[in-house]
Order: sequence, then C-alpha cells, then structure tokens
Amino acid sequence: MRRPVIVTDLDGTLLNHDDYRWAPAVPALARAQAAGVPIVLNSSKTAAEMIELAAQLRLDGPLVFENGGGICRRPAPDAPWQTMVLGVPRAQLQARLNALRARHGWRFRGFGELDVAEVAALTGLTPAAAALARRRQCSEPLDWQDDEDALAACTSALEAAGLAVTRGGRFVHVSGRHDKGSALEQLLGGTLGQVIALGDAPNDLPMLQRAAVAIVIPRPDGSALAVPGHADVRIAPAPGAEGWGRAVDSLLDELGCPRHKEQEHG
Ligand SMILES: [Mg+2]
Repeated sequence: MRRPVIVTDLDGTLLNHDDYRWAPAVPALARAQAAGVPIVLNSSKTAAEMIELAAQLRLDGPLVFENGGGICRRPAPDAPWQTMVLGVPRAQLQARLNALRARHGWRFRGFGELDVAEVAALTGLTPAAAALARRRQCSEPLDWQDDEDALAACTSALEAAGLAVTRGGRFVHVSGRHDKGSALEQLLGGTLGQVIALGDAPNDLPMLQRAAVAIVIPRPDGSALAVPGHADVRIAPAPGAEGWGRAVDSLLDELGCPRHKEQEHG
C-alpha cells in the first residue's frame, strides 16, 4: 500500500473502554508518525474535545467530529484549527426541536438547555470535560423524559424533516444525515484505497466499510463487530489501546515501516 493513512475511532478503540487510557498505543502511534503515516481521528466527540485530545496525543492531522458532522484541519503545524461543518448547524436542530415541542408538548431537554453541572451529572464526566462535550456544532443530544410513543412520534417528525435520530446509551441524538464514512469521503475522496480504519462499534461501520483495511478492536468481553462484505477485516488481538497498538504495529511491519531502535531493544 502506497502512502497509507490511519483513520481511527477514539472511545473503545484508541482509548480504553473503561479508563480512557491510551498509553499502550503510544509506541505504535509514534512509529506511524515517524514513518510519515497521517493519523486522522474520527469520533462522535465534539471538535473541542478532540482538539484537546489531539494536543495530548501530539497529533496535527485532520479531525472528523460529531459522527461525521464536521472536519477540523490545521493548515500548518501550530496554526489554529479551521472548522468546516458538513451537517445541519445545531441552531437549526434546536429550532426544529423547539417548534415540535411547542406543538406537541413532548417532554425532553437538549444539551443546550442543560448547564455544565447537569451535563456532568448525567454523563459522569468531570465539569471540565462536560464543558467541552457541551460545545456541539451539528448535533443535539436529548435527555428524553417522555414515553416511548412520544419518542417514536418525535423521531418520525424529525426524519420527515430530513434529520437523523439515533439512540445512544444515555441520550437520543439528533443530527443531519451524515456518518463517519460520509465525512471521510469528503476528507479523503479518491485516496480511500489507502485508508486503514480502526473502530469498535456500529457507528464505525460506514468508515470501516470504505477503508482498504478494516481493523476491528474487540470489546472487553472478547466479542467483535462484524464488517459484512469487506475483503480485508482484521480483529485486533486485544481490546482498547493495547489492541490498537499491536494491530497497528503488525500492519506497519507488513508495510515495511522501520522500527525505532528503542522499540527493537526495549
Ligand atoms: Mg468506539
């Protein structure tokens, strides 16, 4: 493969599922960077959350945020990040939700109506992390407080308006119609044949399916996401950051990328 690009999910993939650590992936990350392999983070997190993480990981590459809702790039290392929203801007989503609520009386609260302390309490995030998670640009998580029938009716109304509704563990997410794969196509276009994608969950499928090599990070219980119809799917040998590191290391071996001396001897 000429000029490979690594595209990776964060939670449960590059970051451990439970403790969010990435230390076991650092040697492979450094090896990929030393070999000039670009690393693109592709997550449902906000741009604010991802920019902070990119700084900690020392990554300059483009970021795909909010499940394909937008892309951040840096024209040069240390230059300010530039954001492009691909999805429906959040203010439009909120206006649509407010209109539906006024008309039908459904009970829910959007992230935009919750303060930092409320988001922290609902998500288990620290207040600082909750503040970054609240800075959404093209999606609105709802704390749904009405019954299932109301949710079904609200979902139909939003879908009829061309929006997408997905149910997460804790929230109902409202956004435009985009995913991690559609944004990747915008970002990489004709070079998708050089993409090595890593993910662990159903929202990673559109990205894994478009990649030349799909690396699935297994869940902590050992089970792994299926990627139907893909010719080159590999299951990482361990969950989380350790699996990420070992899978990327073998791939870099395959591609003939040199190892650092300290990796050979350490
Ligand atoms: Mg994940």
